Parts: sequence; C-alpha cells; structure tokens
Amino acid sequence: MVPIEHGVPLARLTTIGTGGPARALARPRTLPELAEALRFAEGEDLEILVVGLGSNMLAADDGVDALVVRLEGELAGVETGDGLLAAGGGAANAVCLHRARDAGLGGFEFACAIPGTAGGGVRMNAGAYGRDWSDVLVRALIATAGGESWLSREDLGLAYRHSSITSGHVVARVEYRLEPRPPADVKETIAELVARRKATQPTNRRTFGSVFKNPAGEIGAGRMLELCGLKGHRVGGAVISPKHSNFIENAGGATSADCIALMVEARRRAREQFGVELEREVVFAGALELPSAT
Ligand SMILES: Cc1cc2nc3c(=O)[nH]c(=O)nc-3n(C[C@H](O)[C@H](O)[C@H](O)COP(=O)(O)OP(=O)(O)OC[C@H]3O[C@@H](n4cnc5c(N)ncnc54)[C@H](O)[C@@H]3O)c2cc1C
Repeated sequence: MVPIEHGVPLARLTTIGTGGPARALARPRTLPELAEALRFAEGEDLEILVVGLGSNMLAADDGVDALVVRLEGELAGVETGDGLLAAGGGAANAVCLHRARDAGLGGFEFACAIPGTAGGGVRMNAGAYGRDWSDVLVRALIATAGGESWLSREDLGLAYRHSSITSGHVVARVEYRLEPRPPADVKETIAELVARRKATQPTNRRTFGSVFKNPAGEIGAGRMLELCGLKGHRVGGAVISPKHSNFIENAGGATSADCIALMVEARRRAREQFGVELEREVVFAGALELPSAT
C-alpha cells in the first residue's frame, strides 16, 4: 500500500508558503501506486487534490479535507525520442526543458519561467510569450478511481488558463511534440526569456504567479492594479509586489487570509476605477472564497 501521511501543512507544498494541514497525503511513484491512492480516497469518501509544485495554488489556513496527491518517482520522470518528450505528470517544467535542450528539441522554451509541473501545465493550460500547453501537447494520460485513459489535446478542452480537468482527474503522463533545434539556440532563447522575466516579475520572492487572469481589452491585470495604486499595498505578511501588481508576495508570515484580503481590495478597486470584474487565475484549495466587496 502506498504510504499515507497525515497533517502535512500545505505551506510546505506551495510556492507562496501558506496553507494548513492536508487531511491525508500520498506520494505515488508508479501508476499502480497512484491507482491504489485513488481507490483509497474513494473508499474513505475523500476528495482528491493533486499538487504539482503548488505554484498557482492558495490553500486554506485551516487545512484541506482531501487526499493530497504528489506525483513522484516514475510519475515525475522524463524521456525523449522521435521528436516527442514524454513526462510524468509530476515532472518539473525545468527538468523537461533541460532534457528537451539536451536532445536538440525546441518549442518548449516558453515554459522556462513557469515553475510548475507537466500535469499542472495541462490543468492550467499554462503559457507565456504567446504560447501555451495547447501548442505542444499531443495527449495526456488521465487517471481516475475508475481507471486510466489517454485524452487528446482537443478532448482536454484547453483554452486561456483553462482545461476540462476536474478534481479526481490526475494527469499521470504527458506527451509533447517538439521540433528539432540546436541545443545552443534553445539555451540562448531561454537566457533571453529568463532575463526578460527577472526584469519585470518578482522571480526571487515567494508568490503563486498571476493572481488574476488578464481581462479582455488593452490593459493587463498587472497594469490595471498598478494604476489603482496597489503596488506595495500590504495586509499582514502579504504584499502586492512592488515589481508587478498581479503578484502577491509572502513578505514573511503571510496567511492565505492575508492574500484573500488583498485580492478583495484589488477586485474592488478594479471594479470602481475600470468597471472590470477581475477573475482569479490562482486555484483555491480547501474552504476558501473570494467574497465580492461592496
Ligand atoms: C514566479 C511564478 C511565475 C509564473 N509564471 C507563469 C506564467 O508565465 N504562465 C502561467 O501560465 N503560469 C505561471 N505561473 C503559475 C504556475 O507556475 C502555473 O500555473 C503552473 O502550470 C502550475 O503548475 P503546478 O504543477 O505548480 O500546479 P499547482 O499549482 O500545484 O496546481 C495548480 C492546479 O493544477 C492542478 N494539478 C497540478 N498537477 C496536476 C496533475 N498532475 N493532474 C491534475 N491536476 C493537477 C492542481 O490540482 C490545481 O488545480 C507562475 C508561477 C510563479 C510562482
């Protein structure tokens, strides 16, 4: 039986570093172990919460009443061949990218600044610099308590920061189609993109990436919140990043409640000044709500 841990704080599993204990946590290393974990959750009537690198997740301070699943071992491995890159759902994007570069494969460079996993990328249809997962994904192996099946990119309903994957669906494996590119060129593109990122975003702080999706129209969420005067605005240990207003930084001792308070204020000001209802990008885990401010 795959070991089940109890009471592990989500703060240890999320990049923002907030969140209370998980009711249960499994770290399956193989498909049969993952199947066991999913059957365990079904038997105990527990919801499934897959956590990749927790890089777009805000978890409730009083914890999460679910079986948290972290994919490790084989389920975080990476292989290349015939223009394909095959990764476990738990494989870090950085590892996939290095393996692609070493194999002379390009097209995944856009992911260099996205600190998540293959599975998290599919679920969020993550993207940057005009490209996203839907540009490279061929198919994904989805595991549920009822079994496993491969879904094509079309079946996964990928759209802007959206997929059809719901709780209880685990992206166990992913296949990307990449194109031949000399490793030196891949390396150069990555260096350029990383430098651009460092100049504009708080890459060396604890954050969960974009707080809100970009609204339709000319002005992105970051610029809009900056114009609302929110740069550096603080609640408790959480601060609207002085570098990019669509990021919240944990400046030390932040709670998820602090982050929510900042999000409420940000939405209120965007509504008042721009008439725009900002939609959150960050995924909530546990009993968290973003109440509308009046
Ligand atoms: C500094 C920084 C910069 C970022 N820049 C970008 C950016 O440019 N573009 C962008 O799109 N995002 C960005 N992000 C956000 C984040 O990195 C992406 O959304 C990423 O794809 C999340 O992957 P993850 O593995 O960390 O997922 P998590 O945050 O762990 O989870 C996010 C969601 O995916 C689900 N999930 C995770 N793994 C699986 C799986 N194997 N199967 C099923 N569901 C799963 C979770 O249950 C949750 O619903 C940034 C984050 C940070 C901290």
